Amino acid sequence: MRQSSRATGPTTTTQRSGGVRYRISVLLVALAVVPLTGVGWFTTVEVRSAESARQQADSVEAAVTRLALLTELTSRIQDERNWSSGRNAIAKIGLDPSLVKTLTGLDIPAEFELTRTRIDTLVGQLQLDSVAEQLILARAKTNLPDTAGNLFVESSRYDSVGEVVADESQRMLDDLLLTAGRMKGGQDLVATLRVLESSTVAQQSVSGEFTALFSAQFSDAELTSDLAALLGRRAVRAEAESDIRRTASGSSRSRQAMATIDASADEQVFELAVRKQIDDGLNARSAAKQAGLGVLTSDIDGVAAQFRAGNESTRLYFTLVGAASDDALAASSTLAVRAQQQLDRAIATVAILAAISLLFSAAATRAVVRPVRRLAEVAARISDGDSRARFGNAHGSIEIVAAGRAMDAAAAHLELAEQQAKALAEGDLDHPILSQATTGQLGASLQDAVEALAGSMQEREEFRRRMTHEATHDGLTQIANRNASLAQLRRGLARVRRSDAQLAVLFIDLDGFKDVNDTHGHHAGDMVLRATAQRLVNAVRDGDHVGRLGGDEFVVIAEPVSGVDEAVALAERLVAELGEPIQIEHSRVAVRASIGIALSQGHDEMDSIDLLRDADLAVYKAKADGRGRVEICDDALRSALFERADIERALRQAIAEVEFVLFYQPIIEPGEQRLCGFEALIRWNRPGQGMVSPDNFIPVAERSDLIVAIDRWVVGAAVRQIKAWDAEGAFPGVPVSVNVSGRHLGSPSLIDDVLSPLRDHDVDPSRLVVEITESALLEDLEGAAAKLQILRSHGIRIAIDDFGTGYTSLAHLKSLPIDILKIDRSYTNDESATSLVQLIIDTGHLLGASITAEGIETSEQATLLAAMGSDELQGYLYGRPVPPADLHRTRPVDRPV
Ligand code: C2E
Ligand code: CA
Ligand code: CA
Repeated sequence: MRQSSRATGPTTTTQRSGGVRYRISVLLVALAVVPLTGVGWFTTVEVRSAESARQQADSVEAAVTRLALLTELTSRIQDERNWSSGRNAIAKIGLDPSLVKTLTGLDIPAEFELTRTRIDTLVGQLQLDSVAEQLILARAKTNLPDTAGNLFVESSRYDSVGEVVADESQRMLDDLLLTAGRMKGGQDLVATLRVLESSTVAQQSVSGEFTALFSAQFSDAELTSDLAALLGRRAVRAEAESDIRRTASGSSRSRQAMATIDASADEQVFELAVRKQIDDGLNARSAAKQAGLGVLTSDIDGVAAQFRAGNESTRLYFTLVGAASDDALAASSTLAVRAQQQLDRAIATVAILAAISLLFSAAATRAVVRPVRRLAEVAARISDGDSRARFGNAHGSIEIVAAGRAMDAAAAHLELAEQQAKALAEGDLDHPILSQATTGQLGASLQDAVEALAGSMQEREEFRRRMTHEATHDGLTQIANRNASLAQLRRGLARVRRSDAQLAVLFIDLDGFKDVNDTHGHHAGDMVLRATAQRLVNAVRDGDHVGRLGGDEFVVIAEPVSGVDEAVALAERLVAELGEPIQIEHSRVAVRASIGIALSQGHDEMDSIDLLRDADLAVYKAKADGRGRVEICDDALRSALFERADIERALRQAIAEVEFVLFYQPIIEPGEQRLCGFEALIRWNRPGQGMVSPDNFIPVAERSDLIVAIDRWVVGAAVRQIKAWDAEGAFPGVPVSVNVSGRHLGSPSLIDDVLSPLRDHDVDPSRLVVEITESALLEDLEGAAAKLQILRSHGIRIAIDDFGTGYTSLAHLKSLPIDILKIDRSYTNDESATSLVQLIIDTGHLLGASITAEGIETSEQATLLAAMGSDELQGYLYGRPVPPADLHRTRPVDRPV
């Protein structure tokens, strides 16, 4: 059942919800991945642009490097041209280079060679093959001093090579300026490039001035063009220098180099020389032209100083170009470094963003997925009926913690309901859990339901307890009742059968309890029963069972007992205890008890009912033998009782088959020995056993209603016999006595049973005498008296049989309608009872009754009793009871007394 609901439950839920199902972790990963992808894309773009910026910066750096080399190369080519020109000029005027070296400190051929080597290196580095070829040509022309017509014209080949390089340099510079201008942070580079450009211009100007100055000193024809060149170059240089001063930043090398130039003494010497040359040229062009070599020779020291200063200035401007190159290189490499840093930053940013995203994703998964998963687990356990499942104090989002708390509360409700249901199911109505309430509507409803249920269960339990108690206890005495006692006996028998022990059943019957009821009322009777129960409970040993079987019958089950003796001892103690008088209101009542004992028979199967019946038989025997006795049910008793049962069975058949006959015994009047009556005495012609005496079956019949049927038959048979005798004319007017038992006297049919046969056979009621035993009368004195009165009113006479065996008081006798007192045979045979017999006879006479003495066997007895006043005599002396057919042989009248 549970299994199937588990199997189908979730399916139905899914069908009802009908939605797409997914894991929350998938959703969270998606949430983390989507922005991560965006971030990644953007940062990739950033990285790419940083990468391209770096590449650009790299190429710019390379370009600047190349530009620097080109710039240097341009200057060097000019330089080489100058050295070449100087060498050629010295050769032209026939000066020894060593003399020039001595005069100026300049080793011109060495400087020329140095410059050439440097140029070759640069050209190789720059891979300028066409420049290399042109250089070979330029050097081939200028290397031959003797053939040189005009050394300055020849040096123009160097100028054209220098222009090629300068053009290349300028193109690169223009490209770089354009690129750097577009680059982020490229302004510095632009500034340094401009400084580099200006520096180059200045250097080339100085170089030109230097050449122009000395060519003007050494030439006589080209003075005007030299002067113009000098003037132009000076103007260009001044503008370039002002550009440098304006553009170069304070800390730059180019500015320092510029400052060095400004502070240089050589530069001032050179400056003065140039200015003087211009002034002289303008003022005394012809004079100077005339002087020519004269100047040179006359002031050789001055010229050498100027040459040295010019050379030194040229060198300073080379330094400026180098510084400007270095500045540009530094700026470009700064750009490259920045670009690299930017790229590194971009890459780092991507990495950090990715890492943060991943961390966030992992943290979110931890923070959300775990508690949600746990929530789902706990929910599944709860829906599976596990009320002990708890979410507990887990961390998580406010919503999850709230859901967990709510779920725990629901589970706690469930658990409480479960525990309460368990307590109810176990019937543990006092369990504290049942009074435990929970909050909310559900809790209230649950509590109401539990209270209602517990209440009704408590009522039922109480009812059941009461019913059980009532079913097993006697309402009056509150001790165990018959059923409970039988059950106890069954259990006890089962126990002793398993062991070697023995148990005893004591059947207790109160003697004379009926008298208490009659005399003191039912209330007193109840008190006697309660007192008896209490005394029994107090008297028995611990563990022995006391119960009331009904009426005045009690039972004690003693377990274990060592044997008969112990059981008898206990029974005798109980008899003694119960014999103590009981105080009832103002009088003390003595009730004695008879006890019958039955013992379990070893390992034999023995029914509890049988054992109780045995004890009952024993108590019956005890009562029959006299009261206040203890009797044991032994084999003799048991076989007698079996015989009795056998007789009872056979009697039923005897009644149906009419196996009875009536014998008649004569009753004689003593004086004239006259027949004055017959007593009808029953015999049972039992098949196979012959005539059975009434002593053997009447007591058995008296224990049941069989006696009523027997008595009824006897009355009818006797009446028919009278009718027969009347018809024969035999025994005219002789009355017949019939014996009526006590039980029949108590029966409502008695009157009719007696009167009907008389009426039916039209027999005079005076012919019939009804004998009632004294003990039968005593059972219900008033009822008996009333009935006998009715019979008597019809003319039937009443005789009290066996008088003297009972305890009839004289007062009783007075209130009874009696005609005849029959003195019991035991008195007739007892000589010591003479005076008592006399008293009976006198009293009977006093009450107006006739006296019949029974059991007259001897004539002495007859004489004595006749003398004492007996009116009639009956006994073997006059005849035994015989069948009617044998009566004619009996002639008592003829016999002498
Ligand atoms: P009972 O009514 O006292 O009857 C007299 C008994 O004494 C008879 O015994 C009789 O045979 C016996 N008897 C008479 N004279 C002598 C004698 O001289 N010596 C001795 N030893 N016995 C003598 P029976 O017939 O055996 O009856 C025994 C008892 O049975 C009766 O005692 C009566 O109580 C009862 N009984 C007999 N017939 C009937 C009957 O028809 N109905 C009822 N209810 N009881 C009957
Ligand atoms: Ca009798
Ligand atoms: Ca009698």
